[in-house]
Amino acid sequence: MIEIGTAGTRSARKLLLLGSGELGKEVAIYAQRLGVEVITCDRYANAPAMQVAHRSYVFPMLDGEKLREIVEKEQPDLIVPEIEAIATETLIALEAEGHRVIPTARAARLTMDREGIRRLAAEELGLPTSPYRFAESAEEALLAARAIGFPCVMKPVMSSSGKGQRTIHNEGEVEAAYQAAIEGTRAKMDRVIVEGFVDFDYEITLLTVRHRDGTSFCPPIGHRQVRADYRESWQPQPMSDRAREASEAIALAITDSLGGRGVFGVELFIRGDEAIFSEVSPRPHDTGMVTMISQDLSEFELHVRAILDLPIPHQIVQRGPSASHVVLAQGTSEAPRFRIDPESLREPGTDLRLFGKPTIDGERRLGVALARGASLDEARQRAAAIALSIEPILE
Ligand code: AMP
Repeated sequence: MIEIGTAGTRSARKLLLLGSGELGKEVAIYAQRLGVEVITCDRYANAPAMQVAHRSYVFPMLDGEKLREIVEKEQPDLIVPEIEAIATETLIALEAEGHRVIPTARAARLTMDREGIRRLAAEELGLPTSPYRFAESAEEALLAARAIGFPCVMKPVMSSSGKGQRTIHNEGEVEAAYQAAIEGTRAKMDRVIVEGFVDFDYEITLLTVRHRDGTSFCPPIGHRQVRADYRESWQPQPMSDRAREASEAIALAITDSLGGRGVFGVELFIRGDEAIFSEVSPRPHDTGMVTMISQDLSEFELHVRAILDLPIPHQIVQRGPSASHVVLAQGTSEAPRFRIDPESLREPGTDLRLFGKPTIDGERRLGVALARGASLDEARQRAAAIALSIEPILE
């Protein structure tokens, strides 16, 4: 039997979300639907998930002392990281004291930087990855790039959404790429990874759910990145049986090793029938937002079900060709508005999420358009039409 209490009473099952972005917002909404008490944290007030939480705290997630203080005060049943950059040593200590970290504190620590997860995948588990080297200065980066060969890709070990990432074509580009990587890093580290450039046919996210009855896979999600940031995703990505089997074998190996329960976004490059591991998020993935329209249970619903120890159905129903397209805005505002052309939302099987991010300074993802269609092309066109028909007004 499974027991869930009632939010706001002494029986409440409490979920503490670390990071309150658009992915956390959907996790919070679904947890709310199951009567869970939701407490959210982020470094700024009125973040998306805070707008749908019972209460929230504002502090930097890398501040271990503050994190411990909140956990001791709230005594959550589940500590659920939503971002990578968290005081993971504190999570490890809290877990050792009996707190439950999703999926595990070790998974949060290993995936916080690219080095931990890459070494686990390639060196411990022997999974196929691009060749790689680490470097801590421009000189080391040059030696690393020479050893890997050109073109190669340089990334800060601590970064996401393509920040500080560059493809390098010759020795002359190494120094500038290293400086860009250092500036793009989140935790002010000098360390970068240099990876061989993989000339893939396409790339996928394989959402993998570890739950009380085992491991389930969602149909593969294809996606398109611009400057290493996701713009569009679709499901199901057509794949050969062999490429799909290879992808599932890799996803199973890496998620088994990370352990715990919840959704993992396993990112893979596909070349012919070959699957090459890229990275993994031990939580829902941005490209997986398409599942809000493509599946009967979205990645957020699957995550919450899995971590509450509720069962995942034998089959996760996929509703046919579907796509997501991000709504991007560029500029500065502390009260963004959106002018929406109603026409594109009249198409059947379409939907829209506006995240409620209160401020923008530069380029920021503020929403996502969702659509189904008779084919992947039609679904992608519909999602793009909605996203592009939205005019952010930044004043
Ligand atoms: P990441 O932040 O590592 O997920 O990288 C973001 C995107 O950059 C990926 O989704 C790929 O489109 C591209 N990318 C990253 N690493 C490589 C690589 N070694 N070879 C080719 N493309 C890459």
